Amino acid sequence: MTFAELPHEQLSELAASLRTAHDELRARGLKLDLTRGKPSAEQLNLSTPLLDLPGAGDYRAADGSDTRNYGGLRGLPELREIFAPLLGLKPENMIAFGNSSLELMHDFLMHAVLFGVPGGSGPWRDAAFLCPVPGYDRHFAICAKLGIEMIPVPMTGDGPDLAEVARLAVDPRVKGIWCVPKYSNPTGETYSPETVRRLAELPTGAEDFRILWDNAYSVHHLTDEPVEIEDILAAADAAGNPDRPIVFGSTSKITLAGAGVGFLGASSANLDWLVGHLGKRTIGPDKINHLRHARFLGSPQGVLDLMAKHRAVLRPKFDLVEQTLTKQLADAGVASWTTPRGGYFVSLTVLPGCASRVVELAGHAGIALTPAGAPFPHGKDPEDKVLRIAPTFPPVSELADAMSALTLCVKLASVEALLAKI
Ligand code: PLP
Repeated sequence: MTFAELPHEQLSELAASLRTAHDELRARGLKLDLTRGKPSAEQLNLSTPLLDLPGAGDYRAADGSDTRNYGGLRGLPELREIFAPLLGLKPENMIAFGNSSLELMHDFLMHAVLFGVPGGSGPWRDAAFLCPVPGYDRHFAICAKLGIEMIPVPMTGDGPDLAEVARLAVDPRVKGIWCVPKYSNPTGETYSPETVRRLAELPTGAEDFRILWDNAYSVHHLTDEPVEIEDILAAADAAGNPDRPIVFGSTSKITLAGAGVGFLGASSANLDWLVGHLGKRTIGPDKINHLRHARFLGSPQGVLDLMAKHRAVLRPKFDLVEQTLTKQLADAGVASWTTPRGGYFVSLTVLPGCASRVVELAGHAGIALTPAGAPFPHGKDPEDKVLRIAPTFPPVSELADAMSALTLCVKLASVEALLAKI
């Protein structure tokens, strides 16, 4: 019987026993964190050899240039060659830059707002952006900072609702859309080939519409069957919109999250435009870091081999999350969740109005959860029902404690809500 089907008396009894269990949980004084999608120390250790590279006296790039010196704004060619096939790019149509792809997204939008982009008619004033939800909070934070209006569009299971995207995109103020096309944050879903094609062909009111294609989880598979996505640049080219996609990626969750390399791929017009702007704020990226990454990873296959080791660490954690949710919540009828085939997150949907109460109850018990609403523009989930679980960072034993505490809080918040309705 689901909770909603229980007679009032039984529901009250259940509430009392869940409150007792919650009090006991509080008394344990736990201090656990399920907030951010960070790699664990065990994962970071996989890339420890990076710290000894390139080695004193061994700083020449393949073309003989001295990586210690200024220059090379587009990044080391041998590193671009390794990542191009993994991100669906060509080495000549991408840059390898600083330690973060987020900074490239930020800089792209900031320069668009200040100066406008190729093919446009000037700075992006009074601009709006389509934001598939639930989505990545830091994307939304950039828009909020730059005063770009965010228009939420629901995700469907294989990408954003395209009818809604098409309806909204005819407004010339709508300058683009955020996309995390593979193993999306936080739902784990992947865009279907049809979705990719239709986004590439989409009729838009703005002639300078951009798709910010954040392929953050391109090689972050959790199963034996890697999911692949269509080539957005080729699809846009074929549709006569070569300047529309801007592709992002990074090694943050491949090597060292704080000391990796960010990538951006786009048409020549976009790249020349962006590199022109970036060249005003730096004379060149950290090419020693590029070189050590190129030497450590060696080839696209080297990256995939390293990702297999990450998967061996991560898979048991995602399995534990799935097992606990199923065991504790499947019969209660108060929640549904995603079973991602890659990426870093599980999205948990609870009864409307309950997500922030779950976060509060978990907080009382020492379990830090991502604030309810975080995966929505301005942190506001209109139905207050989506929670993002980030299982990668804690060790398995802590994750087990955190997940059983979380499911207890979901049950208690749900029973409270059902009782309040009666
Ligand atoms: N994009 C998405 C979708 C992410 O989930 C994250 C990190 O969680 C990032 C980008 C951050 O990337 P980077 O470390 O390259 O700045």
